[in-house]
Amino acid sequence: MNDLSHVYKTLQQNPNTDEMPVLFLGHGSPMNAVTDNAYSRNWRAIGQHLPKPTAILSISAHWITPGQTKVATTQTPETIYDFGGFPQILYEQTYPAPGSPDFAQQTIELVQKTHVLPDERWGLDHGTWSILLQMYPEAQTPVYQLSLDYAKSPQYHFELARELRALRNKGVLIIGSGNMVHNLRALQFEAAPYDWAIEFDKTMTEFIDDGNYQAVVDFQKLGTLSRLAHPTHDHFLPLLYILALMEGDELDYFNDDFDLASISMRSFIGMKR
Ligand code: ZN
Repeated sequence: MNDLSHVYKTLQQNPNTDEMPVLFLGHGSPMNAVTDNAYSRNWRAIGQHLPKPTAILSISAHWITPGQTKVATTQTPETIYDFGGFPQILYEQTYPAPGSPDFAQQTIELVQKTHVLPDERWGLDHGTWSILLQMYPEAQTPVYQLSLDYAKSPQYHFELARELRALRNKGVLIIGSGNMVHNLRALQFEAAPYDWAIEFDKTMTEFIDDGNYQAVVDFQKLGTLSRLAHPTHDHFLPLLYILALMEGDELDYFNDDFDLASISMRSFIGMKR
């Protein structure tokens, strides 16, 4: 897997304090929250090396609100156990970070594309807390979430995401939490990744490396390949948000591996150098 040591070196030697880096994180199994593995070790290392955020905005595949876009204005978000059939230890975890009603309000004001609605109840879904538990175990930094209007096109999400760029200058760490390939129906234990999973992951990576973000937004044009990689594309949308937030950023991949044959854990950090 790709190594991030040169990124950490840059962060230490030449920290760009004007603009927070952005992260697309493949979250995969909720068990990564409580497992010491290559993925979670990278999450922890990133948490230790990034400039300290004033707040964290998470755009997670697990907050889907068809027909509207919501932002959580919750003061004290609850840990949401939005999964079933996992070991008890996962249900014993809590992530008691405060919410950020302030930044949630600023987000409402920033977005012109739609009228973002405040949601006073939404907590932290596992797309958010499974990662943050490893990245920032002390849970001191305020965290808030923006929902995904699944009724809208990928293009719509990409355009909406651009309007969030200003938050980077305010010290907000924006995380997109999904997976570059995500087909739960095809999961297989102890199996090599499917050819179509490798092909979709590779195709998207090439588009990104070419700076051709529009081709990533138009992933559905790949037809069968895109439907195999994403029978539903909720886990792909957070990636579009992070791409849209980048302008002149350098991008580094990590956790570029497959889990359970049909999930790409490929993640990336974008930051100004
Ligand atoms: Zn998920």
